[in-house]
Amino acid sequence: MTRKPSPFSKLLTASFLIVIPTLLLLAVSATAQTREARRKPFATSARQPQIVRIVQEIDARNIEKTIRKLVSFGTRNTLSTQSDPNRGIGAARDWLFTEFSKVAEQSGGRMTVEKQTFEQPKAARVPEPTMITNIVATLKGTQPESAGRTYIVSGHYDSMCTSPTNATCDAPGANDDASGTAAVLEMARVMAKYKFDATIIFMAVAGEEQGLLGSTYAAEQARQKGVDVEAMFTNDIIGSSLGGNGVRDAHTVRVFSEGVPSSEKPEEANVRRGVGGENDSAPRQLARFIKETGDRYVPAMRVMMVYRRDRYLRGGDHIPFLERGFPAVRFTEPNEDYRHQHQNVRIENEVQYGDLPQFDDFNYIGNVARVNAACLAALALAPARPKNVGLLTTRLTNDTDLKWDANQEPDLAGYEIVWRDTTSPVWTNARAVGNVTSFTVKGMSKDNYFFGVRAVDKQGNRSAASFPHPVR
Ligand SMILES: [Zn+2]
Repeated sequence: MTRKPSPFSKLLTASFLIVIPTLLLLAVSATAQTREARRKPFATSARQPQIVRIVQEIDARNIEKTIRKLVSFGTRNTLSTQSDPNRGIGAARDWLFTEFSKVAEQSGGRMTVEKQTFEQPKAARVPEPTMITNIVATLKGTQPESAGRTYIVSGHYDSMCTSPTNATCDAPGANDDASGTAAVLEMARVMAKYKFDATIIFMAVAGEEQGLLGSTYAAEQARQKGVDVEAMFTNDIIGSSLGGNGVRDAHTVRVFSEGVPSSEKPEEANVRRGVGGENDSAPRQLARFIKETGDRYVPAMRVMMVYRRDRYLRGGDHIPFLERGFPAVRFTEPNEDYRHQHQNVRIENEVQYGDLPQFDDFNYIGNVARVNAACLAALALAPARPKNVGLLTTRLTNDTDLKWDANQEPDLAGYEIVWRDTTSPVWTNARAVGNVTSFTVKGMSKDNYFFGVRAVDKQGNRSAASFPHPVR
């Protein structure tokens, strides 16, 4: 026999037909609203007028002029002559010092320029003791609590032909690395007129092709003097939008960041393994900050994060900084052309070899400089990233308990907790928690998400995120 449905169950069925879709709709819109609210700090971060102006003022024509001038010295090999006023690395050094000094005149006394010179003993690519000079332009921060906090942007002005120890061959180095050097000089020109809470150092180093010698000296000096280097960017080979693979891409810049720190001690490695922190080093947080800030201020450019210290088995001037525990990343064009790097200038089988200015894309370099400048400005205007961020492990719980030290800036507004799924490359969510030094994220397990904390000032400037260490 079949059972006849009771009037009550009919009513129930009918109301389900109405209620369920309504509930579903409500659930969907609630989820959308939650998502919207959580994403808000990412989506609606206002653009700072000062950073917008800096980005606008970067001029690719100045970058082109600098590159052509650097190429005109014939060679900038670190072993080349230092006394000829027209050819060799000495002429390039003196010209750069003069140009940075002119820029400093626009800074109202806040920028100073020095030649950081040292004698490099014999080394693998240095047959005789050689004087090496970095040009260092320091734009002092204007907030006393932040002036010690330092951000460095660098390019290397030395160059090489096929042989790194050939001091006399033509080595135009238009891309490697007049492009990075010219970008740094242009950033200095634009940014010297503006005030920042923290200090920015614009640097042109030598001895890169001889084994990262200039940057090693600079990093070691910073370590010995206890300089608080909160970020270092090297711009190396940012000159061309056309790769040797034939791919033209004028809208991508690669940012290389290491996950496992070069400076990691064995006990730190144990902690990293225990918390799954291999994707959350300070350089990786810096790369995420660059991605977010680049998207906001230079939408024409795509920051392509590469989760590597540098290109495959290769190196650059950020490495000596990483080895000393300073967060550092490398900017490089998306597709390199090896016919135009470290090559004697020549034509072979109708192919032009050599690092010549005709292969540079000056507008592209301008855009890479804009991404750099926006990020440096954003970092130097923002509070310091929170220090001593701890994740409490005193209780086993599905909540996440975070604490940190109070920032010292007088214009601090408060802090935000950021988080993401463990497989997400970037922070996806943020929540303002006020001016406090601890917070419990209820119902969200530290097992299932990565968390970070960042500081926000009253103008809405946000620091990079700090990844917590376990606290027992
Ligand atoms: Zn280089």
